[in-house]
Amino acid sequence: MKPAPFTYFAPRSLDEALSLLGQYGPDAKPLAGGQSLVPLMNFRLAKPRYLIDLNRIPELAYIRRDDGRLAIGAMTRQFEAERSDEVARHAPLLREALRLVGHPTIRHRGTVGGSIAHADPAAELPAAAVALGAEFVVRGPRGTRTVPAGEFFLGPFSTVLAPDELLVEVRIPAVPPGTGHAFLELSRRHGDFAIVGVAALVGLGPDGRIERAALTLGGAGPTPVRARQAEAALLGAPPTEDLFREAGELAAREISPTSDIHASADYRRRVAAVLVRRALAVATELAKKGG
Ligand code: FAD
Repeated sequence: MKPAPFTYFAPRSLDEALSLLGQYGPDAKPLAGGQSLVPLMNFRLAKPRYLIDLNRIPELAYIRRDDGRLAIGAMTRQFEAERSDEVARHAPLLREALRLVGHPTIRHRGTVGGSIAHADPAAELPAAAVALGAEFVVRGPRGTRTVPAGEFFLGPFSTVLAPDELLVEVRIPAVPPGTGHAFLELSRRHGDFAIVGVAALVGLGPDGRIERAALTLGGAGPTPVRARQAEAALLGAPPTEDLFREAGELAAREISPTSDIHASADYRRRVAAVLVRRALAVATELAKKGG
């Protein structure tokens, strides 16, 4: 199929892109890597009248340390982030998540910001961003605002972004040294969207007990789900297989997956319990080795 007719703009600066969005807002869509938007347009599930291509705005593509945080420009290709030493050093959980996004050809075009703005509930990067306590920098005609990842996603393919706003940067706070990580998922075939995905961070105290834990699940509800009850059960406890199993069962009860052609809600809950248990074991082993 071919997309519905649209007018194409290729702004050369962020200000120009924002001014076009301000002019055409509700009828316009920003185009990043096009890996989700273009298929939607070809199936005529999205029919923007104006397409604002962000690919000629170099100021939106970068990875740098900024005040102890990792700052990733929205137009950074997923592949660039996956290969980045800064990401490997400061947010290895994000690198694990990136490796699971589709196939290499998709990651060469797909962008970090595009995946987050698209807000697919099964996508890896939103789940990793929530677990990492990331913040998203948003710009629009009313100025710049910073939104915690946990407050950004409103539902499937829905975020707090207004039609005239752009996601411009992803900020990831420094992860305390010695934190172990894991991103595990189940998908039918390599490169498919996950049936369920789990992002886990674990930090151990000097007595070997768990002193930090973050657990976020994708494919488990309308947005990435933070498994708060499972996290609470982990804190202060010695890391054992039994504890990880209990956390998995708690997480499975906290999520609200739906049934679709890929899996039933009940199956997703069972997979979540197993993946949480395994992800906690992997993250804990890394934490024991110093992260
Ligand atoms: P686009 O497709 O260009 O845009 C997506 C949406 O976000 C559009 O609505 C666009 O207007 C909006 N947008 C983009 N950038 C911004 C911005 N800076 N500010 C505001 N709005 C913006 N993804 C996964 O997570 N996991 C997978 O396993 C996976 N498998 C895939 C398999 C295939 C075969 C394909 C084709 C895609 C797959 N994807 C997967 C999707 C891929 O990760 C996309 O790259 C991503 O979802 C969208 O990023 P993009 O840069 O291509 O954005």
